[in-house]
Amino acid sequence: QLQAVAILVPRDFSDHAVERIDRTFKCIRIEHADPALVTDEMRRGVRGIAAFAGINAAMMDALPNLELIASFGVGYDSVDVGHAAAKNIMVTNTPDVLTEEVADTAIGLLINTVRDLPRAETWLRDGSWVRKGNYPLSRLTLRGRKAGIFGMGRIGQAIARRLEAFGLPVAYHNRRKVDGLSYQYHPTLKGLAEVVDTLISVAPGGASTEKAVNAEILSALGANGVFVNIGRGSTVDEAALAAALANGAIAAAGLDVFADEPNVPKALLDAPNTSLLPHVGSASDHTRRAMADLCVDNLVSWFTERRPLTSVPETVHVRARS
Ligand code: NDP
Repeated sequence: QLQAVAILVPRDFSDHAVERIDRTFKCIRIEHADPALVTDEMRRGVRGIAAFAGINAAMMDALPNLELIASFGVGYDSVDVGHAAAKNIMVTNTPDVLTEEVADTAIGLLINTVRDLPRAETWLRDGSWVRKGNYPLSRLTLRGRKAGIFGMGRIGQAIARRLEAFGLPVAYHNRRKVDGLSYQYHPTLKGLAEVVDTLISVAPGGASTEKAVNAEILSALGANGVFVNIGRGSTVDEAALAAALANGAIAAAGLDVFADEPNVPKALLDAPNTSLLPHVGSASDHTRRAMADLCVDNLVSWFTERRPLTSVPETVHVRARS
């Protein structure tokens, strides 16, 4: 009877997930998750949404029979979970299956930033190696660095394990100390930034982390400082970051995420000491397929067993209606 359950899927979604939803449920496509585009058929029938991001309160209100939002990705800051929880709507995400991939990307981005490898490759490809000789020595190195992780959760710990293997001491900041972790804990981000020279942010977006990495934190990191962001662009004051890169308050930055994607501030694009990626942390075929499967498995579990596989913490109390 799952074939009768209508699942709304905004465009720009995983092909693999769409194919599975189409095979299992009644799949209804919509251009964007925009209440103005909700038809009477959707209003009456839709019981689930599967989407990359961006489900606001108005969209939930436009679908009175909505029971579950299966969000694709581990970060769910663009879903209004407070409203979902209040309306007894379950929200699921896709944790764990992407952890190692994102940690790999973070390390790649860190090394690119410190050793300037993307520009070195361009030097080879554009013929500079032949015309001008060897690529200049990198100003920076990973050797001798001390790393700080802002957001020591699943991905933060996977990054920390890699950094340990690289021989770097690791410290971290969360709101709460993590039981059983031997890395040095700092109750404030400023305290962490003062004792490390390499700050890796993998904290979630949302009000509690908004622009947490600001001018004060960057100057605490220091002139040899390297900042890497693989978490969310909203956690950084980008204007302050651009200024710190320009005036030497820090040495370099590697960014996978931005406040207003896909728009990247010109000052960050033009800076000679940035390494930039277009939000590719989890973006391999292998890992996106695993995320798609977990997203759809949550829908299947909810509409057959009446329970989700991976609820976000804010909606664990939500119970199925029938
Ligand atoms: P977790 O929930 O396991 O970890 C998040 C960590 O951040 C927790 O340790 C939490 O600790 C800490 N944290 C949360 N809020 C704050 C705060 N206000 N101040 C300090 N620390 C805070 O999540 P994951 O590790 O699985 O994922 C982390 C984030 O990575 C995602 O939310 C997502 O935004 C981002 N991400 C980016 C990807 C990319 O493609 N670039 C891919 C996947 C994820 P505590 O609660 O004690 O504060």
